[in-house]
Amino acid sequence: MKTKQIITTIILISFSHLIFAAGSLSKAELKQAETLRKAASKSDLAYEILESLTTEVGPRMAGTPGDARAVAWAENKFKELKFDRVWKEPVKLRQWNRGIEKAEIISPFPQPVMITALGNSIGTGEEGVRGEIIHFETFEDLQKAEAGEVRGKIVFISHKMHKTRDGSAYGRAVAARSKGASVAGEKGAKAIVIRSIGTDNDRLPHTGNMNYAEGVTQIPAAALSNPDADLILNQLKRGKVEIGMTMTSDIGDEYTSYNVIGEITGSENPEELIVIGGHLDSWDLGTGAVDDGAGVAITIAAAKLIADYERPKRTIRVVLWAAEEIGLVGARAYAKAHADNINNHITAAESDFGAGPIWSFDWSSANDESAFVAQLEQLLNPLGIVRGQPKSTSGPDLWPLRALGMSTFALRQDGTDYFDLHHTANDTLDKVDPEHLKQNLAAYTVWAFAVAQVPGNFGFNIN
Ligand SMILES: [Zn+2]
Repeated sequence: MKTKQIITTIILISFSHLIFAAGSLSKAELKQAETLRKAASKSDLAYEILESLTTEVGPRMAGTPGDARAVAWAENKFKELKFDRVWKEPVKLRQWNRGIEKAEIISPFPQPVMITALGNSIGTGEEGVRGEIIHFETFEDLQKAEAGEVRGKIVFISHKMHKTRDGSAYGRAVAARSKGASVAGEKGAKAIVIRSIGTDNDRLPHTGNMNYAEGVTQIPAAALSNPDADLILNQLKRGKVEIGMTMTSDIGDEYTSYNVIGEITGSENPEELIVIGGHLDSWDLGTGAVDDGAGVAITIAAAKLIADYERPKRTIRVVLWAAEEIGLVGARAYAKAHADNINNHITAAESDFGAGPIWSFDWSSANDESAFVAQLEQLLNPLGIVRGQPKSTSGPDLWPLRALGMSTFALRQDGTDYFDLHHTANDTLDKVDPEHLKQNLAAYTVWAFAVAQVPGNFGFNIN
């Protein structure tokens, strides 16, 4: 670009921020939003969709037959609910197979322990591995350790995650899972077992994705259930502990999954998009009810309720992202495919933090949105939702789009109990409170309607 063009572009971008800041909803629109809120608060639709997904599909780890069935289920569900446009977009990924997983304490006091392989981990071979435990309280302690102390042993990280409403303890705990094997492998460990990244005391381990850093020796990686991590700590108080573990997990073939998309076409500005959704894949141990069947169900139902009531001015696009759990694969594919249309993505929100009640909303905008935010607060307050901060972190599948400059909102759920179930066999429908799901549905319905109607836009993301 020539200097003159660059200057013109900068002026146009700056100018668009000034004149296109979101305006306000009319009195009639506020009334409509209230009517929608009341209807959604009584609607069973999100629960019915979630019951359908967990019953008819269940586990749907990326690259498995469950993934393919989930894609077909989603297409059919959108069609059954009479969305205006339904399609799917390919997402390339590599399969991973879990295989058999078992472990035991060999000495000093032999006992079985419950483990699960971490996603993407190599296996041990059918003969398994055995070795002496070397214990670290945290991932940082492992990082600081000398290779000589670690070589030939099985690393055990015992850091315990505690409960928080906003889930912030997860971010601090998760490095042990995602990077522990790389650091342990580099120092010559035979394998790594971590205390599950979870806040329950069920004898159920939590799986989740891990990755090997480029060039490091790859070693098997597993998570122990919380009670079994405690058991190993108690045996360690009495001296050296030797464990054995067998995992037949392995990396599979290239696979094509799909982002599945359903749209309610806008009546006045159909090219302008409000994006909502959740991720369609889940881990394989439970039925993926809270992670992320709830998000899928809430957002499909919200778009449907709005469509049945009145066509919104902008298009509401529900994206059910593929392969989130193994590294935002579908989200990256979507951002790449739609990068040249990013300016029509007005704003977005993803539901991916379970099914607890929403307690606050955050937003991001290049502009001062005080008038519109005050209206949203007024609309969401009766649901027990308060105004948060002008710095939305959004759901993970929106990160690639935020990086391109899209504005996001975050309707923040109470996640105090979320990590009791997260990535375990216990993530099943009975854990979802239908009343909480209605509250989520009402919040998404009101929010999506409001941002689909409000004049102006949120400019480019400044985060
Ligand atoms: Zn999730």
